[in-house]
Amino acid sequence: MNNQERAVTKRRTQAGIRIKLICALVIFTALVLIAIWVLQIRLLSYFYEKEKFEELEDAYEEIYTRITDSDFKAQVQKTAEQHGVCVRVFQIIDGMAKEIGGAEVSASCMIHHLPTRLLSNLYQSAAENGGSYDKRMEFNQNFVEKDGEKFYLPGIHNPANAVSAICVRIFENGGNVYFALLDSELTPVSATINTLQVQFMWTACFLLVAALVFALILSRLIATPLSAITQKAAKLAAGNYEADFEASGYREVVELADALNFAAREIGATDHLQKELIANISHDLRTPLTMIKGYSEIMRDLPGENNAENAQIIIDETTRLSELVSDLLDLSKLQAGTIKPEYELFDLTQLAKDTLVRYDALVRHNGYRILFESEGEATVLADRGMILQVIYNLINNAVNYTGSSLRVRVAITLKDDRVRFSVADDGEGIEPEMIESIWDRYYRVDKVHNRAVIGTGLGLSIVKSILDAHGALYGVDSAVGVGSVFWFEMPVSKADN
Ligand code: ADP
Repeated sequence: MNNQERAVTKRRTQAGIRIKLICALVIFTALVLIAIWVLQIRLLSYFYEKEKFEELEDAYEEIYTRITDSDFKAQVQKTAEQHGVCVRVFQIIDGMAKEIGGAEVSASCMIHHLPTRLLSNLYQSAAENGGSYDKRMEFNQNFVEKDGEKFYLPGIHNPANAVSAICVRIFENGGNVYFALLDSELTPVSATINTLQVQFMWTACFLLVAALVFALILSRLIATPLSAITQKAAKLAAGNYEADFEASGYREVVELADALNFAAREIGATDHLQKELIANISHDLRTPLTMIKGYSEIMRDLPGENNAENAQIIIDETTRLSELVSDLLDLSKLQAGTIKPEYELFDLTQLAKDTLVRYDALVRHNGYRILFESEGEATVLADRGMILQVIYNLINNAVNYTGSSLRVRVAITLKDDRVRFSVADDGEGIEPEMIESIWDRYYRVDKVHNRAVIGTGLGLSIVKSILDAHGALYGVDSAVGVGSVFWFEMPVSKADN
């Protein structure tokens, strides 16, 4: 199994969005249900008892603040009724407890029926516990157990197995010591819990089914547009660049579809360009080869044709062929980034002058006028060989396209620590919509032109790649019927930098 097959198998075993969404929603619902179960049902009696003890505490706080009130007894009654708790308040005088107030608001009140021994035991527990003692007490028919000790009840109306929350407090006020006893019945919550449990089971079943259905609908909504895009993407991968990704559904899908449509267009254009490139290269390679073959055969078969002129044609065509091959090689290396500029300081003006010498023969024999203007020395930090190639290509193009004026103007201007090299011609110019494309390799504006120097169709792509690698600014200003100015600009370096 190769890596690709392994990746496909892995993807197939990965869960789809539908399964993931269903699992996520079901797990989420289950967690919510568990939380409700624990908090509402399992901890119901805990919260209920806590609430009861808090109620007792509130009642005690009121009693504490009213201990000095003249109508204390009435206040105790009122507090007890308000909070629904039973109360007994004692004052400790000479070690003896004297009841100074109380209220029995419920028939199930236990504190009014406790034996004295238990009362003093409770007092003791509170005293040992810093003055406060809370206790859940289970009363049997005639006795109650506390810390393993049995206390018999005076046999009054004691409901079987009553449970009470008992709150004991010892406090001081004005030098007097008081002992408060509060009690609230804890009704059994098991019946409520049973009802809640049944209710919970139904709710849980309903919620789980609802979560499942909801997850299915949601996953369908999410997955359907994605599946449609995947099918179209498969067509794109198979080479159908016309694939139109439907931008509908939710925002993320629309963005994905837009991105894929853009990618499809770009890949289509690149594919087209690549095919065109191969066709152009084959054509350009074939033309000189046909000439070389033809002339060689003529020279071999016809002794009279075996002359220097024909040999020169073969040499010229071979030169053109090797230029084309080396241009292609340069371009592919530049674009792949395998060759990087080797920076050195040199005078751009001098380099331009040296390059123009190569055109002397053209000027002498074909009547071209190549004018050169410069504002002086311009030292730049760049790859000399590469910049020479740029200058050479731009001048070649200007010579090729300048038209009947046969005039080309080369200029070097300096401005704000920058040097601009420009080549102007009086040719037909370039249509504005073509300006962008001329930098693409093998792009040629489709028209017959005068070619004093034969180009390979790769010149401007090489220029662009070199100038991009140098981070230089470049461009073309062209007007149809007037001519074009190709230029590039780079910073002037101080020689001592
Ligand atoms: P070519 O070998 O065809 O000149 P280039 O890459 O150098 O290849 O140029 C690409 C195309 O840009 C040319 O075919 C031509 O259409 C256009 N072009 C380049 N320079 C000029 C110019 N000075 N004037 C008008 N068109 C130009």
